[in-house]
Amino acid sequence: MNKAQEKPIALSIRNLVKTYGKVAAIDNVSLDIASGEFLSLLGPSGSGKSTILMAIAGFVTPDSGEILLNGQKIDALSPEKRQFGVVFQGYALFPHMSVRGNIAYPLKLRGIKGAELDAQVERTIDLVHLSALADRMPRQLSGGQQQRVALARALVFDPSVVLLDEPLSALDKKLRAELQFELRSLHQRLGTTFVNVTHDQEEAMTMSDRIVILRDGAVQQIGAPDSLYNRPSTRFVADFLGRANFLEGAVSSVNGTELKIDVKGIAVRHAKGKDAAAQGEKTLLALRPERIAVVSPDQAKTSLNRIDGSVQTSAFVGSQYVYVIDTPLGTIESQMPAFEAGPLRQPGAQVAVTWSPEAGVLVKDK
Ligand code: ADP
Repeated sequence: MNKAQEKPIALSIRNLVKTYGKVAAIDNVSLDIASGEFLSLLGPSGSGKSTILMAIAGFVTPDSGEILLNGQKIDALSPEKRQFGVVFQGYALFPHMSVRGNIAYPLKLRGIKGAELDAQVERTIDLVHLSALADRMPRQLSGGQQQRVALARALVFDPSVVLLDEPLSALDKKLRAELQFELRSLHQRLGTTFVNVTHDQEEAMTMSDRIVILRDGAVQQIGAPDSLYNRPSTRFVADFLGRANFLEGAVSSVNGTELKIDVKGIAVRHAKGKDAAAQGEKTLLALRPERIAVVSPDQAKTSLNRIDGSVQTSAFVGSQYVYVIDTPLGTIESQMPAFEAGPLRQPGAQVAVTWSPEAGVLVKDK
């Protein structure tokens, strides 16, 4: 159990269903979101992320199920009455108001005036590092700065929950990475509950305490980024969150700590860990590329899992070497730190591919 789960539940979604014609946009989703948690809804396009967020916000009426805030049903409340901070794509900044004016607006709506208004606005402007830009108009700001204003506007009235719909998707890669980190840091300082929608795996991993993986309107798996990455339960999750090699096989023997899996007639050793599988059972082993080393054939004599192959493709990607290796098990992708691996091996080079029995995880083939 992670820390966030020990805190009181801020938002609960129970058996939520929303259909459009024959499409179940939300297919019986239940979720508890802890107070102060940063939770991301992650999935491919059309998996139901936005519909869930819009149902929480009150812009979509579910067919059935309920939504509770601090234990109270909020299904009948209008979006305004729910008092959530929202950063949605459709919620653009007011073009005729300065940064300060935009940020003050939600407070004015709530009847806050004078010194209290000024103090809250200034505090929030500081929080998102916009002090130098407070008198500018939105058109005088970059995309990233505008996103920060939108965020400040969602935070200024101290909402208990902030809803974010792809808040960074319009920004370029470098700025996105910076703002991801800033948002994470902001969240860690504030302790507000954030529910974020994204289709970007890296963004979800960087910012979230927990990630909900969605597919076709249903929850596939929920967990902290590292546990989802290291222990995906299905092929879909392993594939969606990062890259993976998949080896299909069947258990040929089981001893105390280890399985031997027959993959295309080759014995692959797999440390059982939490994976239980019986003799003869069909298995699907997922192996992350960074758990696989590519070495010279004469270097790998003692490795527990070792297979000869030849380099099909190789590339230097930032700090990593990425290899695709042809082997009797099929093509295997490896990613290894370049600084400790000598020169990049070229296509055609004879190599050995190695990994430890602890490197992989058995997943369900769905
Ligand atoms: P995501 O945010 O993961 O891309 P959505 O929640 O937008 O997914 O959509 C989930 C499914 O519901 C999709 O198949 C989409 O086409 C459908 N859908 C969403 N909103 C509507 C709508 N207003 N009318 C009809 N179908 C919709």
